[in-house]
Amino acid sequence: MSFSLHGLAVSSGIAIGRAHLISHATLEVSHQQLKERDVAGELARLDAAIDIVSAELDALREEANMPGALSEVAAFVDLHAMILEDPALVEAARDLINERWCNAEWALVQQMEILVAQFDEFEDAYLRERKHDVMQVSERLIKALLGKPRKLARKKMTSGRDDDLIVVAHDLSPADTLAFKNMSIAGFVTDLGGATSHTTIVARSLGIPAVVGMQRARPLILDDDLLIVDGTRGVLIVEPDQRVLEEYRLRRSGLAIERSKLQRLAKVRSTTLDEQEITLYANIELPQDVEQAKAVGADGIGLFRTEFMFMNREELPSEDEQFEAYRSVAKAMSGKPVTIRTLDIGADKEIEVLSTRAAERSTTNPALGLRAIRYCLAEPQIFLVQLRAILRASYHGKVRLLVPMMAHTHEIEQTLAMIEQAKTQLRSSRHRFDEHIEIGGMIEIPAAALMLGPFLRRLDFVSLGTNDLIQYTLAIDRTDGAVAHLYDPLHPAVLRLISQTIQTAHRYERPVSVCGEMAGNPALTRLLLGMGLRQFSMHPAQMLEVRQEVVMADTEQLAAKVARVLKNDETDKVRELVERL
Ligand code: PEP
Ligand code: MG
Repeated sequence: MSFSLHGLAVSSGIAIGRAHLISHATLEVSHQQLKERDVAGELARLDAAIDIVSAELDALREEANMPGALSEVAAFVDLHAMILEDPALVEAARDLINERWCNAEWALVQQMEILVAQFDEFEDAYLRERKHDVMQVSERLIKALLGKPRKLARKKMTSGRDDDLIVVAHDLSPADTLAFKNMSIAGFVTDLGGATSHTTIVARSLGIPAVVGMQRARPLILDDDLLIVDGTRGVLIVEPDQRVLEEYRLRRSGLAIERSKLQRLAKVRSTTLDEQEITLYANIELPQDVEQAKAVGADGIGLFRTEFMFMNREELPSEDEQFEAYRSVAKAMSGKPVTIRTLDIGADKEIEVLSTRAAERSTTNPALGLRAIRYCLAEPQIFLVQLRAILRASYHGKVRLLVPMMAHTHEIEQTLAMIEQAKTQLRSSRHRFDEHIEIGGMIEIPAAALMLGPFLRRLDFVSLGTNDLIQYTLAIDRTDGAVAHLYDPLHPAVLRLISQTIQTAHRYERPVSVCGEMAGNPALTRLLLGMGLRQFSMHPAQMLEVRQEVVMADTEQLAAKVARVLKNDETDKVRELVERL
């Protein structure tokens, strides 16, 4: 039966393909039918997961045996290790995989449910409660399995066919989405998420259609259902009829033609009709993204979100590893600016290796907690490693250092002092670096936008992080679908903060850019140009459309019109005026 669902349109375009359900919690694990030849591989996945969990428990046991640790911890670790070795759980799951050719996650959940039902029958309350331990061990195993996903090769297709893969999930973390960079995925839909959650940002950077905040898509869709994702209108059509399918195939081909026409703008300079040179920088998450940036003619990297390099791994990247990554980007950009942002973890960007430390110190509201520069100043050793790596890379290109989420003068002072400390360490270890490396700050907290002077006096440049600036100005969690309709870049208060920041930076003769998602939205290019913005930073996937807007714009005319927009304090009227710019 055909039906459609609506959500937030976050990454434009049309994808037609087969649903691939992704699960996270034990409860959500879906059944997957394997081919006989895949069974051995599936058993090996289960064995690898058992090894991982066994190593995790060993590490916990070691911690539990340290002086001062609670003896209860050691007892539960022993119990969990026993459950892991008990054939009732893993051997039975193995049998299921062998007999039914099913995925390991599903086999584990089936067996877990049988055991939980048996535990429920116990009279003794203590024994009954032990079902939670079985559940926890199963969760650990499933998490380990999900960390080593089955290769999606079976479904790897070339783009533009109806058997493409469309990922459907209740929720995805930025780290999950990042893993898609190495897979061929045509589109994705999630029940949760907001327009500028990091999951969405990564999807947009992949240039694939996506709809988030669907609320109830995941439970209604079955693996292999035929889906149409309309990432422009925020619509998902499940099992479309032939007529709808044909119409969408036509629209998809039309969009492909438009996209290939845009390609001619890759080599065009970003100059407006009144001869203003506009700088279009690229945002990247991983060093390999630099190729995409070069392919669309980026003038440099305006935002390298380094925290993504820390995701999906068990150890922190060392100074040398970070240095190599930063140097590779600096070299690839051949002297064009490369703006490396220091670690911005916290809020929706969880990094497994660091999350326990942050969680121990932070609050119940991570967006307002120990995030970004706050975290780095609280963990100086981690920060110094990154600062040294960035400084060393500065010898190999035009590297700039960008610090996220500063609100206080003392945060700038402390950061500058730490950069000096890293420089001193490098001098004594005879490492070379750019002594005059430019240091910039992100303006993403209203306090910083309102009191810009102290920032501009101490820093070489600033970059407006509009995603967070909107979140913190309007008190809207950018990841929360329930309040996504209130997340509004055109709220007059937001526009005034942005415009004011641009004007003040110009007065201080400091370069200012916008690196939030607003910069990559072609519907807002004319507005930002009219506010006086001359440097934009966006995902490479958005750059050609923005350049098209730039080359057709006249900044002088826009400035006069935008001045009128900014005088208006009714959001609806502002929206109308922006559409007419
Ligand atoms: C922003 O907040 O606008 C920004 C660019 O940083 P991030 O999206 O990584 O928080
Ligand atoms: Mg931010």
